Amino acid sequence: MVNNCSRIGFVSLVEYVTFGAEKPNIRMSDLQNLEALVTQVRRDILRQVHKVNSGHPGGSLGCAEFFVALYQELMDRNEDFSMDGKNEDIFFLSNGHISPVFYSVLARSGYFPVDELNTFRLLNSRLQGHPTTHEGLPGVRIASGSLGQGISAAIGAALSKKLNNDSHLVYTLCGDGELQEGQNWEAIMYAAGNKIDNLVVTIDLNGQQIDGSTDNVLPMGNIKGKFQAFGWDVLEIEKGNDLDAVITGLKNAKSRTGNGKPICILLNTVMGNGVDFMMHTHAWHGKAPNDEQLKVALSQNPITLGDY
Ligand SMILES: [Mg+2]
Repeated sequence: MVNNCSRIGFVSLVEYVTFGAEKPNIRMSDLQNLEALVTQVRRDILRQVHKVNSGHPGGSLGCAEFFVALYQELMDRNEDFSMDGKNEDIFFLSNGHISPVFYSVLARSGYFPVDELNTFRLLNSRLQGHPTTHEGLPGVRIASGSLGQGISAAIGAALSKKLNNDSHLVYTLCGDGELQEGQNWEAIMYAAGNKIDNLVVTIDLNGQQIDGSTDNVLPMGNIKGKFQAFGWDVLEIEKGNDLDAVITGLKNAKSRTGNGKPICILLNTVMGNGVDFMMHTHAWHGKAPNDEQLKVALSQNPITLGDY
């Protein structure tokens, strides 16, 4: 299992920082180290996509805080990767096109060498544009990219854990545009109907998808109300690019598992977060920066932990 040493920059003798009268969530020293990791992950995303002039930076950048929080603070996970994921928390990425952020955080959380990020989208690489399983990349348990399937896969794993008396949790992340896929709603109905309460589904609510805003492509109305109507316990993280808020929200979600309902987190993020000219637009959903754009983007995200 993950211990303190495997987490980025763990420092043991620093005071907790408090936020008003609220219970401290994370030590300031840890938060600063994790913020540094987020910045480095953004660099990794940009450099991976730029090198091969393809890939999906927008959604990846928007979810950097989520992945860092999940892998560094939330999951009770085993870096000695096994596909079965027994007796550990597991994660499925449904919106597989945001693989750059997934690969970066997996590598920087100890699953495979960080240098391997250099092989993103190359022939015979284990880091394909959309994650697959047959390359055997540690940390990847399903092929994804065909949208709408992550919740279904997570339900299967969550049921397996219950059958095996494994009390660990199953997490998955979906894009908001992805909810337009009908399979999701069958899965959402099934999970509530079967009281799958060891499941935490996060929706990346950035309001954008490949062809424009979700409201323009296909409005989905009140997503929170829809999940609640299907019988889910829904919570919202208003600041999905505020690392501390994400950690707090994820811990809240975790605390609400085991109560007869699956958990949905609505994570409000900004597509392209951290690079000013990529933010608040679908334009960088699947487009790589050129040399000059990369230079500007990296200048806004200086090296923290070291480039691969
Ligand atoms: Mg989206």
